[in-house]
Amino acid sequence: MNPVIQSISLHRHEVDVLRLDLMTPQGIGNKYYKLKENIKAAKQKGVDTLLSFGGPFSNHIHALALTGKQHGLATIGIIRGDEDKDNPTLKAAGQHGMQLYFVSRTEYREKEQGTRVAELLHRNNSIIVLPEGGTNPLAVQGCASILDGVHSAYNHIMLAVGTGGTMAGVLAGISPSTRLTGVAVLKGEDTLTDKIRELAARNDHNNWNNSFGHHEGGYARTSPELIERLKSWYDEYQLPTDPVYTGKLVLAAERMIRSGAVPGNEKLLLIHTGGLQGLDGWMYMEEKKALR
Ligand SMILES: *Cc1c(COP(=O)(O)O)cnc(C)c1O
Repeated sequence: MNPVIQSISLHRHEVDVLRLDLMTPQGIGNKYYKLKENIKAAKQKGVDTLLSFGGPFSNHIHALALTGKQHGLATIGIIRGDEDKDNPTLKAAGQHGMQLYFVSRTEYREKEQGTRVAELLHRNNSIIVLPEGGTNPLAVQGCASILDGVHSAYNHIMLAVGTGGTMAGVLAGISPSTRLTGVAVLKGEDTLTDKIRELAARNDHNNWNNSFGHHEGGYARTSPELIERLKSWYDEYQLPTDPVYTGKLVLAAERMIRSGAVPGNEKLLLIHTGGLQGLDGWMYMEEKKALR
């Protein structure tokens, strides 16, 4: 895949953005890379169905439904809660042929052991189960090719981090002299760094760290500043970002440039991991709030 790179200016510092959203089918971004080796493995094993888990706005669920359809594999989504059955994410997943099962938050907590999953596995013994968010060793392997074709003149690369699977894969594709910063979109730093270290095992040159100060209140939480900046990057550069992942990435980069944490001579690449389908879900929630 030819890299698509856009240059923007953040606080008068020129920054490149690797637009995975423009390089992957329907903008599924990093989820394309996380799924590709899993799909290959499923085909090799003769498996016909992929099952996974997610919240009602999950980019992973949306990407799994689309990718499964493209490869002729059946997909099953176990969704947390049933209050948003008709939101744009799940509607699209359903249109791609995904079978959706809605389970209570209590059952969702025990996902893999839940009665619904046990039932489905019993009925069809040719199912591969992918974890919530899609991170497993094959996903990490797939993400190692995210930087394929990108020239190596960057001293610093940044990306948004949820489970850390994508970051662990990207680590494998960079030289030890390139710095990698993950921008955590969830609150709570207790286990993330250890998890990435474990996933990256062989590629850990200690050239990376996570930045925990830009989640704006936690997963899917926002601040007025985030929303204001996200609109202005779009107006100025036609760079679309979402408030859950890539918006927080660009916000973190801008703040780090302003504070000097990213020095003026540093050549910085931001990885746009996609996730723009989430914007439809965002507007859906805003409308729902406005109607209440
Ligand atoms: C899922 C997702 C991430 C997080 O990926 P992890 O591998 O879980 O860290 C980042 N950005 C976008 C747009 C995503 O959809």
